[in-house]
Amino acid sequence: MDYNEIDSVVGVPIRVPASEDYRRCSERGNDCVPDPNFGSDELGARIALACPEHGIQSVVDPFEDRR
Ligand SMILES: [Zn+2]
Repeated sequence: MDYNEIDSVVGVPIRVPASEDYRRCSERGNDCVPDPNFGSDELGARIALACPEHGIQSVVDPFEDRR
């Protein structure tokens, strides 16, 4: 899977899948935003995609292929 780097936390890059399908709100489409502060258990390893209206839509793990 391809990733885009969107941010970094204490020097560790945060990457998300290049495909935008993961961030679509199930109710309205693509209005979800990455929330690195939710669900992070170690250095932002997991990122939640939250819709401002409908809450968490999905959680991605950018480092899945490194575990
Ligand atoms: Zn929504």
